[in-house]
Amino acid sequence: MFEKVLIANRGEIALRIHRACREMGIQTVAVHSTADADAMHVRLADESVCIGPPSARDSYLNIPAILSAATITGADAIHPGIGFLAENAQFAEMVEEHGFAFIGPTADHIRIMGDKVTAKSTVKNLGLPVVPGSDGPVASLDEAEVIARSIGFPVLIKAAAGGGGKGMKVARSPETLREAYQLARGEARAAFGNDEVYIEKYLGHPRHIEIQLLGDMHGNCVHFGERDCSVQRRHQKVIEEAPSPALNAEQRSFIGDLAARTTAAIGYRGVGTMEFLFEDGQFYFIEMNTRLQVEHTISEMITGIDLVREQIRVATGAPLGYGQADIRFEGHAIECRINAEHPETFLPSPGRIDGYHAPGGLGVRIDSALYDGYRIPPHYDSLIAKLVVHGSTRNECLMRLRRTLEEYVIGGIDTTLPLHQRIIAQPSFIDGAYDIHWLEQLMAKGS
Ligand code: ADP
Repeated sequence: MFEKVLIANRGEIALRIHRACREMGIQTVAVHSTADADAMHVRLADESVCIGPPSARDSYLNIPAILSAATITGADAIHPGIGFLAENAQFAEMVEEHGFAFIGPTADHIRIMGDKVTAKSTVKNLGLPVVPGSDGPVASLDEAEVIARSIGFPVLIKAAAGGGGKGMKVARSPETLREAYQLARGEARAAFGNDEVYIEKYLGHPRHIEIQLLGDMHGNCVHFGERDCSVQRRHQKVIEEAPSPALNAEQRSFIGDLAARTTAAIGYRGVGTMEFLFEDGQFYFIEMNTRLQVEHTISEMITGIDLVREQIRVATGAPLGYGQADIRFEGHAIECRINAEHPETFLPSPGRIDGYHAPGGLGVRIDSALYDGYRIPPHYDSLIAKLVVHGSTRNECLMRLRRTLEEYVIGGIDTTLPLHQRIIAQPSFIDGAYDIHWLEQLMAKGS
């Protein structure tokens, strides 16, 4: 087992990883920018190292500074967390070249599955259904037009290196294809330094269903069921639930087993997620995330398994030690992503927390690095808390969520708490009858 893990991240996820380490008897090293000197992840870690100024480029993305911090503190492994360097194959490679274990997949897997075009062709060859579209990147507008006409409008132009909903544009007709193609390429170039794009059929009313996976270094792979992440704004998840209210038992075991078999076939190690769109009873693979995900919490709540602990354990080379039949699913879980943003305009709202009260009670989990008096810096992602509730049934879970949202107080800044209250009061949400466009349609209606 590792003795000391350096956590190359910040905020709630750094704290989440610290907690798993402490419970495994592993010491932790926090790294932080000058803007995060008072952050909770720094306060709780056994050791901390300042790695640069506020800008993420100079701190949380500063590979030499992170590797130096690991060297001087004598860490034996590095956990990249979520975002920042978590899907950077070069970082994974450098971590291992410097003699540290990387708590994540191999650099090759990050490369193959992190590029959406190669990921799609890899899983397609292994028999997974994918969204109809171009077989690879499209090299020109003319080529885009030929493909778009053959699959039929509307189409979606997507960045091969995409993430966070960036570099994705819909073209509803041949007339709008040029603009969508150019906008997607421009956005992809600015966000990822890579303007390679591909085309997919734009599905009209799908749900986003993803499968949580875990593989070890010995060819074993299991899944932890699905998560329904269809409540989205600008292709970004807002609320997630597990299990999905849209799947029956047969569909559930079909897609879970298929995803686990495919993941085992590529020899994947660590945690990962295969994302699918689900429409009219059919699943279509869209991408794989080769890292822990924000919403891993709900899979933990319905299985009782600590996925970060498992991730660390398999990174030591330990075998899984259990099979699919040993994973039991119990009850229902929902996560609300709470952002420091205005609930209607979504303008970021960094600043000082003035009054903080977190709800508690049976089946309630808050993953957050907030505390009263904490000053949220303006430099990073606006996710400040994940409110996760578990209930023995979906209805119990919804009632518990309503109760906890009423109790939660985050003073001094704007948050999306009121948006969550509004969403969960909608009859269609209560009925589980929503697709990926549902939230934007609700917001377009006003209050
Ligand atoms: P990112 O990596 O940027 O998050 P994804 O490929 O995971 O991008 O897609 C994000 C979201 O965009 C999906 O959850 C879904 O809402 C929407 N989306 C992606 N592909 C399609 C498609 N072919 N048709 C309709 N919606 C799509």
